[in-house]
Amino acid sequence: MSPKAKTTSAVGQRLPFLLSKLKAPRVLERLEQTATTAREEGWPYEQFLEVLLEAEVFARDASGARNRIRHAAFPAHKTLEDFDFAAQPAAEKPVIMHLAQLDFLAGRENIVLLGPPGTGKTLLAIALGIRACLAGHRVAFATAQQWIDRLETAQHRNALDDELKRLERYGLLVVDEIGHLPLERQAANLLFALVARRYERGSIIVTSNRGFEAWGEILGDQMVAAALIGRLVHHAHIVTLKGKSYRLKERGTASAPAVATQPAGLRPTT
Ligand code: ADP
Ligand code: MG
Repeated sequence: MSPKAKTTSAVGQRLPFLLSKLKAPRVLERLEQTATTAREEGWPYEQFLEVLLEAEVFARDASGARNRIRHAAFPAHKTLEDFDFAAQPAAEKPVIMHLAQLDFLAGRENIVLLGPPGTGKTLLAIALGIRACLAGHRVAFATAQQWIDRLETAQHRNALDDELKRLERYGLLVVDEIGHLPLERQAANLLFALVARRYERGSIIVTSNRGFEAWGEILGDQMVAAALIGRLVHHAHIVTLKGKSYRLKERGTASAPAVATQPAGLRPTT
């Protein structure tokens, strides 16, 4: 072995150590193969570095999105590809696809999804939330009742303001199912505090199976309802879904007439 060959074999010897220090495992994984290709094809140095770093950055972006989706606590994994637009013409595809471009987040605007149970409100809220996670936004999903519980707990610790401030770090909050249950006075005030605090600071997606005219009853106070709705819809996209529950419809077509004639009160609402 000539002295020259010996030095060549030492080239790159410290790379595994250096790359593990930099926490760039994908660069290390792809190093040998990429170096071989680069030598064979005579790549410029810049191209070699770019290909290696790209692999690392793509992998990091993907795991960042995965973490954000996990952290958001969606009740199910739904995407816009799962949404059957033909079954729900009230959700105009161009409108929904425009919302999915997420301009509303930049404008700190809200989305209000209204409509009867089972028409896809929660599905759309999840799908838009996942889009936001993929685009790098922090998202938190909970039902109205869960938000209220969370804020109540904070209030008992005398930390309501801290909690509301903490939530400002999220680009998007989803408040699912306003109106499934009438709220106590205190609960309604907490929900109002949440919406008021987000106003022009961050986006909210709200779903409800009751129209705004019923919110006074839900919140137990017309004034609180009017103030909450005013802030919510000042910069908002309102989508009103229509028709029968998608699941009942599906079962109905699967020749189960007994289910299709089930009284409205017994319909599943999730
Ligand atoms: P809502 O929140 O309006 O009560 P969901 O979003 O929970 O309704 O929808 C009820 C069920 O039906 C879910 O499993 C959902 O995935 C499905 N679903 C509703 N609408 C559609 C649709 N247009 N396309 C595909 N699945 C739908
Ligand atoms: Mg729902």
